[in-house]
Amino acid sequence: MLQVYTGTGKGKTTAALGVALRASGYAMKTLMFSFLKDDPDYGEARAVQSLPWFTLRQVGRDAFVNFRDPDPVDLRMCRDGWEQAKRSIAAREADIIILDELNIVLATSMLPTSEVVSFLREHKGAVEIITTGRGAPEELIKIADLVTDMSEVKHYFHRGVSSRNGIDH
Ligand code: ATP
Ligand code: MG
Repeated sequence: MLQVYTGTGKGKTTAALGVALRASGYAMKTLMFSFLKDDPDYGEARAVQSLPWFTLRQVGRDAFVNFRDPDPVDLRMCRDGWEQAKRSIAAREADIIILDELNIVLATSMLPTSEVVSFLREHKGAVEIITTGRGAPEELIKIADLVTDMSEVKHYFHRGVSSRNGIDH
């Protein structure tokens, strides 16, 4: 199935990680591509060493992406990441493949939605695919089997609490 976790509230990436944990109980393997980031201090990046059922490939860089005018380096990294992800999906490299933040990559036109959607439409029967990130485009929502919209009701960020180790990253 193709699952899409989108919306402005917290919980999209952690929901995907929750599925991976649950699936590991059935000896299923998860491969996660993290678009737009490369930070060894993310909890999931630290955790991989002790989780044989979970593989993480961070396919971005450790720098702020300017979505209004993306740096060519970031565009190239999105492209490279997507090419890797396509190969992994086609080869059924894992039971679950998470494309973390792909929704926002599409929403900001860092990759062409039509191309990504047509590949996912053709291959979504092969493995369980989960995409996360704000602003999932309508074309992706149309072909998904499940879409959850995490809506923000309240977030401590607005009262000045920044990203916390192990909870937010
Ligand atoms: P998480 O990884 O915690 O599941 P997420 O994947 O839903 O969050 P992203 O849009 O990827 O959210 O943003 C990741 C970071 O931004 C996390 O530190 C998260 O706590 C924070 N965040 C999520 N929602 C909001 C919000 N509405 N306002 C401010 N910060 C947010
Ligand atoms: Mg996220």
